[in-house]
Amino acid sequence: MHNFILRVGVALMGRRGLASLLLALILPVASLASEQAMAAESPPRVVVSVLPLHSLIAGVMAGVGEPVLLIDGAASPHAYALRPSAARALAAADAVFWIGPELESFLPKPLDSLAGSARVVTVLDQPDIAVLPVRVGGAWGEPDEHAREEVAKEPAAGPGTRDPHVWLDPRNARRILAIAGAALSEIDPSHAAAYHGNVLRLDAELADLETELAGKLAPARGVPFIVFHDAYHYFETRFGLTTIGAFAASAGTAPGARRIAELRARLVATGAACVFVEPQFEPAVVKAAVAGTNARIAVLDPIGAGLPAGEAAYGRLMRDLAGSLVSCLSGGAR
Ligand SMILES: [Zn+2]
Repeated sequence: MHNFILRVGVALMGRRGLASLLLALILPVASLASEQAMAAESPPRVVVSVLPLHSLIAGVMAGVGEPVLLIDGAASPHAYALRPSAARALAAADAVFWIGPELESFLPKPLDSLAGSARVVTVLDQPDIAVLPVRVGGAWGEPDEHAREEVAKEPAAGPGTRDPHVWLDPRNARRILAIAGAALSEIDPSHAAAYHGNVLRLDAELADLETELAGKLAPARGVPFIVFHDAYHYFETRFGLTTIGAFAASAGTAPGARRIAELRARLVATGAACVFVEPQFEPAVVKAAVAGTNARIAVLDPIGAGLPAGEAAYGRLMRDLAGSLVSCLSGGAR
């Protein structure tokens, strides 16, 4: 290209020819400089593991760029293998946000191989995040080794294990906004003002969301219910709900016959109003356990399996949860 321009310039040599030769030499330098300026303004490449977290980061990045979502809503993060496209997105990332090994058990290895090329933010390790322990034993079930070998990839839950479903407390979600805003501003100072403005706007929205949900959930307070896997500790703690047990000790684990018999006895003894299953998990065993009791079966979706990804997803996820709970627990449609 340059050689061609040079030859044309030489061929046209004369005063006009000299001018065009100089222009041909200067232009590439000028366009290179403007490309560098554009690069400084381009958004960081951000990868986020699961939909609720992605929604919060997408909000913080609004007007700057869009983060890549690793696991689409239909897959369970508890049992997931990294696709090649996702591995490529990770390898090219400037920043990665994930919950922690207790949820995305497939991620520690690929993150190790990034070898410091990306800023990795592990939500469960952030001192500001209020983390609850996993509930084990009794109504919450013991890990069933046989079932685990077949389907479960979630790390074994034991005493002291961190419950990874932190986003279901809106106050943790607000802390995630602040953490993300600070991390993104550090790696991309040119957009710090935009990140900061988005954090302030979303923080106010989530404060309003908590008030709205507390009001909506008031009729469900104290009404006992059972869930498929214990994903709702944060939600019930924040909003005063009464989960009395879980079918599976961990996500992706099929409850055994003994477990189902225990839960059935518990359903009868407590008069629990509802058993909530999840979109990803087969409710056949739950149907068998509930048959002949007064409990209804309804669906709760803790990760937004059916929702389009984006800034709006978090609010929809939380409102859908509250709606499903109230509708079943206050005696709505079966
Ligand atoms: Zn879970």
